[in-house]
Amino acid sequence: MLALQFLGAAGTVTGSKHALLHDGSATLIDCGLYQGPKTLRLRNWEPLPIPPPEIDAVIVTHAHIDHTGYLPRLVKDGFKGRVYATPATADLLGVLLPDTGHLQEEEAAYANKKGYSRHKPALPLFTERDAYKVLGHLERVECGETVTQKSGLRFRYQDAGHILGSGICETWADGVKVVFSGDLGREARRLQPADGLAGPLCATAQGYFRGARRAGLRDRAGGARSRGAGLGRDRPAIS
Ligand SMILES: [Zn+2]
Repeated sequence: MLALQFLGAAGTVTGSKHALLHDGSATLIDCGLYQGPKTLRLRNWEPLPIPPPEIDAVIVTHAHIDHTGYLPRLVKDGFKGRVYATPATADLLGVLLPDTGHLQEEEAAYANKKGYSRHKPALPLFTERDAYKVLGHLERVECGETVTQKSGLRFRYQDAGHILGSGICETWADGVKVVFSGDLGREARRLQPADGLAGPLCATAQGYFRGARRAGLRDRAGGARSRGAGLGRDRPAIS
């Protein structure tokens, strides 16, 4: 049986992590960092409900840190699987993740210098060196290419038109199709918009949804909503 568990981006739009559970395997869709107020950032220090060594793979929709920035910590905590990304997303992660690790180290060093942290010493969530280790887990998947995992879960990217490399992720298992839009929009960008998206469940991003509707995605997302996916403000935000 296929099950969906929300590990982040519920009640907020950062920290995107969604687990697809299928035949004893767990696949994360996105692995984002909580960003913004301290109350949110503190969630980055909480252990995941699924231990990282038990997660089989991660599929990232795009390179923004609120969708990928927890990857170094996941690897640091024992994740051994593959991280699937489009080629452009993989290239961007090669820059963004080490930079995020460097910023984490700088922030911890500054807290120690000023003495404002109650932790002595203050430690980074992960380091630049930790972030480089993620790059060895990356596996590039072209848009339109179908990948089948050992568990039987299949997935395919379609161009999302959000940033370079962004992909809507279609997944199939046990005769069920689940579509993760990732972030959509904004409007009036020159990136190629998504096309041909259809499925029994469409989980999308509330943070960019208004722009996505104006960009012409309303019909597809609206169709998914009528079949029961959560898009309202009181639902988990999948972004
Ligand atoms: Zn984004």
